[in-house]
Amino acid sequence: MTTEDRGRRFVRAEPNCIFCGIVAGEISSTTIAQNERVIAFMDINPVTPGHALAVPRSHATDLFDITTDDLAACVRLAQQIAGRAKDRLGADAVNLLNCSGEAAKQTVLHFHIHVIPRFKDQPSKDAIGLPWDSVPSNPDEIERIGKLLS
Ligand code: AMP
Ligand code: ZN
Repeated sequence: MTTEDRGRRFVRAEPNCIFCGIVAGEISSTTIAQNERVIAFMDINPVTPGHALAVPRSHATDLFDITTDDLAACVRLAQQIAGRAKDRLGADAVNLLNCSGEAAKQTVLHFHIHVIPRFKDQPSKDAIGLPWDSVPSNPDEIERIGKLLS
């Protein structure tokens, strides 16, 4: 693991990490916004037009690894990109998605928030759903698990 001085901050980079490569400018990307802490670029496999990723410059594997300051900066940038998707792409809505961990289907082990523009009644642009069906559960079970999380 190496550190790199970027002005006032030290950026942690992970060898062989694709997104660290993008942050360093060693791997090409369509960058759409950036500041000293975070960067946003287009996803190369967009699920809808405008699908972008907001990532911290400093390497963090997932939600459990990222600092709260970097997380806050990613969320702020994701909100900004979501606004642009509405204003400039005519998106009707947006999904934000983070996958943290293999069981959550994370494939790139550098924290990122997906910003996915959604288009109402436009199946040529938006043919995706949500990865679950809404099914009511036993209220006692919900209560029991809620207590574990309280
Ligand atoms: P996840 O499955 O949540 O880890 O998402 C990783 C995302 O990174 C996927 O949507 C990929 O399409 C995207 N991706 C992988 N490599 C690149 C790259 N070089 N530039 C832009 N997006 C990428
Ligand atoms: Zn990385």
